[in-house]
Amino acid sequence: MSTSAKLPPFDPADPLGLDDLLEPEDLAVRDTVRGWAADRVLPYVAEWYEKGELPQIRELARELGAIGALGMSLDGYGCAGASAVQHGLACLELEAADSGIRSLVSVQGSLAMYAIHRFGSEEQKQTWLPRMAAGEVIGCFGLTEPDHGSDPASMRTYAKKDGTDWVLNGRKMWITNGSVAGVAVVWAQTDEGIRGFAVPTGTPGFSAPEIKHKWSLRASVTSELVLDDVRLPADAVLPGATGLRGPLSCLSHARYGIVWGAMGAARSCFETAVDYARTREQFGRPLGGFQLTQAKLADMAVELHKGILLAHHLGRRMDAGRLRPEQVSFGKLNNVREAIEICRTARTILGANGISLEYPVMRHATNLESVLTYEGTVEMHQLVLGKALTGLDAFR
Ligand SMILES: Cc1cc2nc3c(=O)[nH]c(=O)nc-3n(C[C@H](O)[C@H](O)[C@H](O)COP(=O)(O)OP(=O)(O)OC[C@H]3O[C@@H](n4cnc5c(N)ncnc54)[C@H](O)[C@@H]3O)c2cc1C
Repeated sequence: MSTSAKLPPFDPADPLGLDDLLEPEDLAVRDTVRGWAADRVLPYVAEWYEKGELPQIRELARELGAIGALGMSLDGYGCAGASAVQHGLACLELEAADSGIRSLVSVQGSLAMYAIHRFGSEEQKQTWLPRMAAGEVIGCFGLTEPDHGSDPASMRTYAKKDGTDWVLNGRKMWITNGSVAGVAVVWAQTDEGIRGFAVPTGTPGFSAPEIKHKWSLRASVTSELVLDDVRLPADAVLPGATGLRGPLSCLSHARYGIVWGAMGAARSCFETAVDYARTREQFGRPLGGFQLTQAKLADMAVELHKGILLAHHLGRRMDAGRLRPEQVSFGKLNNVREAIEICRTARTILGANGISLEYPVMRHATNLESVLTYEGTVEMHQLVLGKALTGLDAFR
């Protein structure tokens, strides 16, 4: 074993030395996204959150396009063609600013663009992807319905053939980016099973009222999609997807980003708690000098960096084409659950200040309540893993 004199110093920001796993290009992506979020999100996000709005969403989307963050790991059509690890690092940095910004990027890239890229015709790809990669067109992804969330196979939205046209009727609920989208990827029942449609949002019969009064993901646009006799030409259907496999593979891609992203929210809360514990004094010394506080910080650091290590492992598997959906469920289940725990513990260290928007902790904690639910709830991922472990399907 080498002597301690030769060991690199302990880095509180990277206690496991996980940066050693990153290539210079990975670090460059991370720095770019971190810098963008520091300039364009962090100074304003508390105000956006308080007002419950994302006022500059179109401008932000264009800027995110300019730094290559939209459809980042897709190839061609103006996309950056980044690795899965780089995409994950970007998600982490964006969510360290706010889960709403990461949601904007995930829905655009991993859901709407991914669906068109993987299942669309060449013409659909040419029509939508370059403008979406540039942030000129925002996309949304409509799967969930008011009465069908965890069980999308039971969806009621229906696309009926009328001559060569399709006519869509139904409702979608809780759709991120819905009211600001130029294209909605909508999943609907048809006589041939579930199909996906690229719906230009200016089509008569389509509307997307925004959902207000949210206490989570307040700096994010969330909408209902209303489809009343929306008539689309034959070529609006995504030719490559029939059945639930289509939307589920998109969700798997987006969930992978969440595995990283949740650790961003957790990192922000952890760093805030460490800073606070070093400076806030009670009983004549800093909170960080008490063993009980140190136990909290040590446990938070362990879960934070274990979570990042897990995300990195899954990223390498994705880059190698070996990442299974069950492994994504493993990561989403663990990392979001642990991230919430880290945020809640940070909240306790900040005492009353923990509930103030002056600090990011409560904002992250309430955001993560949505992240815990969307892209498959805790229970759905437990059922996915339970089925894989036992061979027994306990979904219904
Ligand atoms: C802010 C936000 C943004 C969103 N963005 C999008 C989006 O862009 N596109 C989109 O399509 N959807 C989106 N969603 C919807 C999200 O994916 C759903 O909320 C999620 O799938 C859960 O569905 P539900 O809310 O209807 O809950 P339900 O399915 O009604 O579940 C309620 C509870 O019951 C549990 N449950 C359900 N079935 C079982 C079972 N078999 N066994 C045990 N427990 C069970 C669930 O785990 C959960 O705890 C978003 C949601 C939020 C909050």
